[in-house]
Amino acid sequence: MFGSNGWRALGLSLALAPQALADICATLKQGGIDVEYPLTLDYSNDLTKYWSAACGDLKPTCIAAPSSAAEMAQVIKNLHDVETLFAVKSGGHMPNNGFASIQDGLLVSTKNLDQVDYNPDDHTAIIGPGLSWEEAQKGLDGTGRCVVGGRLGGVGIGGYMLGGKSSWLGV
Ligand SMILES: Cc1cc2nc3c(=O)[nH]c(=O)nc-3n(C[C@H](O)[C@H](O)[C@H](O)COP(=O)(O)OP(=O)(O)OC[C@H]3O[C@@H](n4cnc5c(N)ncnc54)[C@H](O)[C@@H]3O)c2cc1C
Repeated sequence: MFGSNGWRALGLSLALAPQALADICATLKQGGIDVEYPLTLDYSNDLTKYWSAACGDLKPTCIAAPSSAAEMAQVIKNLHDVETLFAVKSGGHMPNNGFASIQDGLLVSTKNLDQVDYNPDDHTAIIGPGLSWEEAQKGLDGTGRCVVGGRLGGVGIGGYMLGGKSSWLGV
């Protein structure tokens, strides 16, 4: 079917091609990142945490939930090497399918980026993008400080701050 040149060309193009078929879920898991697969409790539970049930009906191949900025950087770096479609989810209040949800791709959940670190010296707080506004406020309880965020407590920090809030709602 192929002459030897044809096989050589095919071999070369496969060697140079991005790892289109690489299993990014397995790669991330091997790298120590929390990865959830279908038919597990965590995976199913995560898909219930959308404001729109239609978003939760989309089934990602797996859900990766990095626990630190370094792990998130590792996820992004690994995504450079593959052609896998992906979506990022924070509070899951974006109603459009495919924005913070995905069918047959990688869902990156920020749920483990959930810290509230308040610094009383300069009155600043580092708030993880996986929290909801309600959770962020609870984390500040006792500091005498409050956050100005979404009107509903369940709206996520990540999407509200970066993914497009609707500030015309007056918050
Ligand atoms: C019931 C309801 C009430 C609302 N109330 C208000 C309100 O009072 N005021 C207001 O301004 N808006 C309001 N919104 C709109 C809401 O702020 C936006 O939909 C916001 O994007 C939701 O953020 P999320 O983290 O919950 O959503 P997600 O669905 O998790 O994310 C929304 C988008 O942001 C992206 N994203 C999430 N995290 C990150 C990240 N870390 N880095 C980059 N991109 C990221 C996602 O990929 C997605 O495209 C409301 C929406 C609903 C459904």
